[in-house]
Amino acid sequence: MTEFVIPAPEPAAIPVKGSDKFFPVRRIYCIGRNYVAHVEEMGGSADRDPPLFFQKPSDAVVTSGSTIPYPGVTKDFHHEVELVIAIGKGGKNIPEDEALDHVWGYAVGLDMTRRDIQGGGLPWEIAKSFDHSFPVGPLTPVTETGLIEKGRICLTVNGETRQESDVSLLIWKMPEIISRLSEYFELFPGDIILTGTPHGVGPVVKGDKLVATFDGLEPLEVTIG
Ligand code: MN
Repeated sequence: MTEFVIPAPEPAAIPVKGSDKFFPVRRIYCIGRNYVAHVEEMGGSADRDPPLFFQKPSDAVVTSGSTIPYPGVTKDFHHEVELVIAIGKGGKNIPEDEALDHVWGYAVGLDMTRRDIQGGGLPWEIAKSFDHSFPVGPLTPVTETGLIEKGRICLTVNGETRQESDVSLLIWKMPEIISRLSEYFELFPGDIILTGTPHGVGPVVKGDKLVATFDGLEPLEVTIG
């Protein structure tokens, strides 16, 4: 048993649907620019560039029902609704045709973004990887959902639909994301992957109530405080 010189931080964790148990979060990986209509709204081309990966810190996790503080150093705090994959089995250089064997479950989440400081050729760290930047709903095991290849993903703000699409429109499909990511990083149980946002991203302000949904998964509700 390791003894620590200060109290050890609590591990980040995501609730599991229908269970008192939690899924422990090791790392949070994200893919950018993964729906054509979103790439276009951001001013990019719809060419299939190599996948763009970045990370959030594991303690960026916020569970459903929470209020998240409007972050400092931004005047353009954006929502990005995304389908989230939880990895239950690790590996590196995972072949595409084996990639889905590594999926433990799914959730719907938000890649919250300081849009006004994203880009300009600079690293995305402070735009993407800040405190409370990953609200996520409860995970549902793949044994219950089956493998997800399509389905409606939606985000409302104060009851008004802001983002609505279908995950069948992903540019890089989930087996490709897992396979490519595992070439750069060895994956381990507890890793989380955000699969990219559809079009319709936009700003939120204090007091806004966000509800993210995906057919067959538990919803995510957060308020901006
Ligand atoms: Mn995103």
